[in-house]
Amino acid sequence: MSKKERIRNIGIVAHIDHGKTTMTDSLLAEAGLLPPQVAGTARALDYLKEEQKRGITIKTANISLLHETDSQPYVINLVDTPGHVDFTGKVTRALRAIDGAIVVVDAVEEVMAQTETVTRQALQERVKPLLFINKVDRLITELKLSANAIQSKFTHIIDDFNNLIEIHTEPEYKKKWKTNPAEETVAFGSALHKWGFTLRMAEKRGVRFTNIIEAYKKDKHETLSNLLPLSEAILDMTVKNSPSPVEAQEYRVSKIWKGKADSEIGKAMLTCDDSGPTVMCITNTQTGQGPDVIATGRLFSGSIEEGDQVYLVGADKEYRVQNVSIYMSAFRETVHQVSAGNIAVLSGLDLARAGETLVSAACKQEMVPFESMKYVSEPVVTVALEPKHPKSLPRLKEAMDRLAIEDPNLTIAVNEKTGEYLLSGMGELHLETAINFLKDYAPGIEVAASNPMADYRETVTAKGLTVMARTSNKQNCFWVQVEQLEEELLTSMAKAMTQNVWAVDDHGNVLVDSTKGIRHLSEVKAMIIQGFRWACRSGPLCEQPLRKVKAELLDAQIHEDPALREPTQIMRAIGRAILGSILTAKPTLLEPVYRIEVATPTQWFGTCTNIITSRRGRIQSTENRGSLTIIIGFIPVAETFNLTTELRSATSGRAFWQSTFNHWKRVPENNATKIIERTRTRRGLPAEIPKPDKLIDEA
Ligand code: GDP
Repeated sequence: MSKKERIRNIGIVAHIDHGKTTMTDSLLAEAGLLPPQVAGTARALDYLKEEQKRGITIKTANISLLHETDSQPYVINLVDTPGHVDFTGKVTRALRAIDGAIVVVDAVEEVMAQTETVTRQALQERVKPLLFINKVDRLITELKLSANAIQSKFTHIIDDFNNLIEIHTEPEYKKKWKTNPAEETVAFGSALHKWGFTLRMAEKRGVRFTNIIEAYKKDKHETLSNLLPLSEAILDMTVKNSPSPVEAQEYRVSKIWKGKADSEIGKAMLTCDDSGPTVMCITNTQTGQGPDVIATGRLFSGSIEEGDQVYLVGADKEYRVQNVSIYMSAFRETVHQVSAGNIAVLSGLDLARAGETLVSAACKQEMVPFESMKYVSEPVVTVALEPKHPKSLPRLKEAMDRLAIEDPNLTIAVNEKTGEYLLSGMGELHLETAINFLKDYAPGIEVAASNPMADYRETVTAKGLTVMARTSNKQNCFWVQVEQLEEELLTSMAKAMTQNVWAVDDHGNVLVDSTKGIRHLSEVKAMIIQGFRWACRSGPLCEQPLRKVKAELLDAQIHEDPALREPTQIMRAIGRAILGSILTAKPTLLEPVYRIEVATPTQWFGTCTNIITSRRGRIQSTENRGSLTIIIGFIPVAETFNLTTELRSATSGRAFWQSTFNHWKRVPENNATKIIERTRTRRGLPAEIPKPDKLIDEA
């Protein structure tokens, strides 16, 4: 672990069901961590009950493997990443820790939506992709393709994959990172039958593709795993073509960290220097029993050991490291020290969160934190939770907090008025899984969950009236007007935070100051911004967050005595003025829409498209891939609940689908009225939407 040129930090990413877990098991078996006969069935990295039950990988686990290439030993740190789209936030975090990604693609299904998402995510973090074309056995046994037809299928997949690299890579890596079998950046094989090869490996062993077809015909495919062991193909490809941390940090650091390259810390990170200051990026946190938080992260410079005094930049807190360990499958082994370029696990850091920057306490003043990670999606589905016994509320809240720490794509909220605990995630499966974790985290608590509901946003479709609101002591006055914000305007505003753009929030709402020469305005600016944020969280129609609303402060009168400028009053007045103006600006609801991708045997193509269109969906394109048809379309999230059951029963369980949030769309008028009514009732609000003057009268 101290010879950095002998380290590889990699992850395996894939569209769900393309064989990532099966492949990982083969690698573990070679390392002696799993008996070879159970590889492919035990799925060791899926160590959590929930994952085994559902057959999908959810939590990111890490493992260190030792592998020999050309008689030289290498340490391969393998970070496992979930395959289901609902858990992409965890993929994003894992990518920060690794330098190379093996993208597994099913030879029959080829490149799918999630292949593109994970590849794009990797490239955004300057993680170099390698390709593994899996399930080649199916081309032989199921599709019965000839050697030539298989060859052209491979060429097609590689071209498609390289096209993703062309689209999503920065110019200087476009050429360098395209995959090519001749350069051993592509491997082929069957994770299920544990064989695989790169061109060079096959040549060296004197194996031709016809030999492989032959082996299947003669029912002797077991011999292939001795002749062309999968783990050798994958790990040799990794050693030869995935960068060591020393190579990778030289170009990755500038992408993920914006500090000065020629500072002491910058130089140490660029050269992966053990003797530099300790710098680590936390990429995963898990909570154990009790208050302890187990933080996993990539060490970019220096080394770390028990007793070290460290500082978490985001949390602004110093700690003494209680324990340092590395992962072996689900188990952690305590080690004396871990050095730069490796992945370490620390305990004793209660405020550590994914994305945090850790640095030696001695350098806390100089440290610039890592760039924040860009999650590709936002939560769009919510369930309301309620414990059977009110006295379990604190334990439920605690367990929900734990979930939110572990999963960046889950958010929790409490509705004070109704006492509802709301859990929001990316989709139905995501929430179901989260609720099962909750039950593990708070054993014995009986929790009732509502049906999943789509999340909505409120926006305006016209320019509102200018609305004036006073603070309740009548000493300060604000005039505000809202209007719809066009996409282009938002982008340019976010880029150039000019002086009069006071705030831009995550949902594209903007606060602009158009006043001139108002006395004392700068002294209450922070309170005005807070009032804007308060309004953005909860719109006037049914308390859903605002989206793409531009609020303009046109005029103000501020009392000269600071004692009469009570912050909460100012905040409320601004909030009321914004919400009041929204009510005059033809407000409306937006609903989330998924992009849906269905892979179905062609005979059920019509059935599937009908199901989608009958649920207010629309089909964008369809494509034949052998015996499968791939349907791509869009469908409102609210229409997808129970879609699984319908698709399954209509296709005898042969159609598979995945959906990811794609965009917000206006809810048709009559639906909107019903949704607003329903939501107001559920949230304990009066049935009537308030009149604008009501909001202002209160002022
Ligand atoms: P993941 O979702 O990417 O982790 O995929 P899994 O490893 O769970 O595999 C999904 C399904 O594909 C399982 O039923 C596997 O047994 C099967 N599978 C994986 N690799 C292969 C392969 O090489 N050939 C065949 N025929 N099936 C495979």
